[in-house]
Amino acid sequence: MRPPWCERCGQPEPHFGACRLCTDWPEALTAVRSAVWLDDAARPAVHALKYGGLPRIADDLAAPMLPLGSSTDGPSALIPIPLAAKRLRQRGYNQSEMLARALARQWRIPVLVDVLVRTRETPTQTALTPETRLANVAGAFEVRNAKCEMRNGTERINFAFHISSFALILVDDVFTTGATLAEAARALAQAGATRVVGVTFARAAIPDFT
Ligand SMILES: [Zn+2]
Repeated sequence: MRPPWCERCGQPEPHFGACRLCTDWPEALTAVRSAVWLDDAARPAVHALKYGGLPRIADDLAAPMLPLGSSTDGPSALIPIPLAAKRLRQRGYNQSEMLARALARQWRIPVLVDVLVRTRETPTQTALTPETRLANVAGAFEVRNAKCEMRNGTERINFAFHISSFALILVDDVFTTGATLAEAARALAQAGATRVVGVTFARAAIPDFT
């Protein structure tokens, strides 16, 4: 994807007025960018990552996400959007975690997988408007104050204590309205996070929304 876009949510700039998509986002969520549009070329790749049992395709999907950058001041960490436990068991892996791990190898920052948990699976969001999507994911995430093992060895840090000093990078495969990322950021902010950004591989165009 290329500019001109909303500096905050990365959506194509509206024809007039301010961007409506990110107005209700929590303050902590400062920027979201996606690598590519979810077009006929990207769709099979996302499908393969999600349902094809091909988690290693994550390396290929992460490649165009690398220029989206991890550049932040101070320590940063990747947090994949979690699946609910039941769906994780069904699928065998979390596709967002696969992307996060691929990014982490290049950006050399840790992935935190036990911090953000999904307390319930949300109905498939395919046909919902931005407003109903927000309601759909409300309260779907929780922060567990886990101690996290950091990448550089055996040091275990109390993430609950340090959360405000981290720039957190949420990772998801597809951005549709941003409702999922916004809700995840809200949960992190409630736990003390002050700087959250999001990166996704693809972005679905929202019909009739400018
Ligand atoms: Zn926006």
